[in-house]
Amino acid sequence: MIELNLILLGPPGAGKGTQAARLVDDFELPYFATGDILRAAVTDGSELGTVAKRHMDAGELVPDEVICGVVIERVDGPNARDGFVLDGFPRTIPQAEALEEAVSKLGRRLTAALLVEAPDAEVIRRLSGRRICSKNQHTYHVEFDPPKNEGFCDQDGSPLIQRDDDKPETIAKRLEVYHAQTTPLIEYYDTAGLLRRFDGTRLPTEVHDHIRATIATLRLESDL
Ligand code: AMP
Repeated sequence: MIELNLILLGPPGAGKGTQAARLVDDFELPYFATGDILRAAVTDGSELGTVAKRHMDAGELVPDEVICGVVIERVDGPNARDGFVLDGFPRTIPQAEALEEAVSKLGRRLTAALLVEAPDAEVIRRLSGRRICSKNQHTYHVEFDPPKNEGFCDQDGSPLIQRDDDKPETIAKRLEVYHAQTTPLIEYYDTAGLLRRFDGTRLPTEVHDHIRATIATLRLESDL
């Protein structure tokens, strides 16, 4: 196996983005985070952004038919030939089926679904304290990772903001949506033999080490 076609699963705030960034560095893979793609579309004021915004602000999922094409066109793109890291997609069974179909049409298959788990109370603590720099999306936490100058990014000095969907009432809704619509994917990928579980309450470095070891094992197994 040369390709690494990876998806990251788990509740918002479990640390999927942090792990994805490390995997992208480790394996030089393109990274497609649907939340980031949609937020960029909202900023650009594109048609996609206009449709997505009201769902995002309400903590709901954007409809499957809107998001599937966005992801599949990237998975099919020239820079994803050696694999990809998907973060935040799929989030529903129909999205997982659409991805499966797209990947197998390309004569490929998913390598693993990496589930980074964290309990609701931890997710709420992490998301409600999260602050993002308004220029380059550098991430901080008011309690666990505060910037040197309160309210401003250490790296580019821009003001820190709270994502609209990190407000308490929206976090509760996002968690509800996660449990109702995304957790069925755990069983889906477990049945497919692709699920690998990681404890998102551990230090990011520990989670990363565990993921790397798992990928190394998968690679060895596929060479047998
Ligand atoms: P995230 O940054 O991954 O937490 O995503 C932020 C918001 O974008 C979500 O709460 C949804 O409204 C929307 N979104 C991101 N990915 C998807 C997806 N795969 N399907 C539907 N909506 C999504």
